[in-house]
Amino acid sequence: MLIIDNKACTGCRLCEKNCPFGAILVVDEKAAVQDNCTLCGACMNVCSEHAIAIERAAASPEELAKYKGVFIWAECDESADGEYLVPKKVVLELLGVAKGLAGTLGEEIQVLVLSDGRPVDTDILFAHGADGVIRHENKLLWPYSTDAYTTVISAMVAARKPNIFLLGATPNGRDLAPRVGARLKLGLTADCTMLEINDERQLVQTRPAFGGNIMATIMCDKFRPQMATVRPHVMSMPEIVKGRAGTIVREDFAPAEENILTKVLEVIRNRNGQDHLNITGAEVIVSGGRGMLNRENFILLQQLANEIGAVVGASRSAVDAGWMPHDRQVGQTGKTVRPKLYIACGISGAIQHMVGLQDADIIIAINRDKDAPIFQIATYGIVGDLFQIVPALTRRLRELRKAVGRPERTA
Ligand SMILES: Cc1cc2nc3c(=O)[nH]c(=O)nc-3n(C[C@H](O)[C@H](O)[C@H](O)COP(=O)(O)OP(=O)(O)OC[C@H]3O[C@@H](n4cnc5c(N)ncnc54)[C@H](O)[C@@H]3O)c2cc1C
Repeated sequence: MLIIDNKACTGCRLCEKNCPFGAILVVDEKAAVQDNCTLCGACMNVCSEHAIAIERAAASPEELAKYKGVFIWAECDESADGEYLVPKKVVLELLGVAKGLAGTLGEEIQVLVLSDGRPVDTDILFAHGADGVIRHENKLLWPYSTDAYTTVISAMVAARKPNIFLLGATPNGRDLAPRVGARLKLGLTADCTMLEINDERQLVQTRPAFGGNIMATIMCDKFRPQMATVRPHVMSMPEIVKGRAGTIVREDFAPAEENILTKVLEVIRNRNGQDHLNITGAEVIVSGGRGMLNRENFILLQQLANEIGAVVGASRSAVDAGWMPHDRQVGQTGKTVRPKLYIACGISGAIQHMVGLQDADIIIAINRDKDAPIFQIATYGIVGDLFQIVPALTRRLRELRKAVGRPERTA
């Protein structure tokens, strides 16, 4: 329910002007809410007198059942030439998990795409399982801004009433999801590692909690939509069905420019040596931990990485010590990776590190402590001194490479 404090309301009409649904009218210098109010919170956000509030009572099972569909926010990147927009890989991963959820519920998958009017590759969304795309085009919707995206997405979600709303836990997704949750007075489960539907048709959201020591199962039984974020590389990609088609609906609701409080003046891309390498997409990673002893020793890992086309990663201890940049950190407070091969050198295997790589196909651990926890999860373990083992491995791989006449491979 939308509550208007008549004593505080000055009749300034900001709420009336900013309501995407025309659901507030100012009569006799006081705001009055109409029947078509969706509780999207746009009016509450612009009211400088704090005269508007949303009160959401726990919904009955009958009301909850009216919410239908799995919605996904399709965060996009610009194509290399800047001519069109391409959904990020995490969006396709979300489509993979959404397919299972929507299939169990017998509901559809809709993808929300916000853009400045440039074409968006929607074929890729349909090929990965989307049933429909809902597009919003406005020049204020690129680049991403918290205010514009929160207003437009909250309005879309409030009006269309999805059962489930999923976002990628990218930097922008982590910014947007809690803002939408707060605007709509909904809960949010961040960084889920598993999503399922239970016998009561609820979304069962699983995520690490208490420093990764337990897996928490969270359900939302009073409000809809059920909102969750999922980190990149956690969910598997769905099967691609080329040529699959779906519906495209265009909605045009423009956020007011004066309500966008931040402006992107310039985008400076990271061109600093190898730091721009994206560890999350790497197929082979050679990681070092506190056992590396210092920054200089990481050259041993880089030499091994060069032989097998790998990227060098690190544990938090190595990052905290300043031996590697933070964007190479694997784990709960770093990146989630899903490589074919992960070689852990001088890393003990703390749970906070392991949650970041548990989906690696093969893990090789090199550690001089035979009781190190990493050996419990490793596919292959080498007990010994990494300063002997890593150079020996590199030497042998180099010999083999030269024997077959293959050039060195950098990732
Ligand atoms: C909230 C929270 C979030 C966290 N997030 C992360 C995260 O994202 N990523 C992360 O990595 N950690 C994270 N941590 C820290 C985590 O708990 C561990 O402290 C950290 O992963 C340990 O790093 P390490 O394995 O490099 O160091 P250590 O635990 O000190 O292990 C070093 C290992 O090197 C071995 N070793 C030493 N010398 C040699 C040698 N010469 N040859 C072979 N082996 C050798 C030792 O036997 C030991 O097993 C987090 C902690 C908390 C509380």
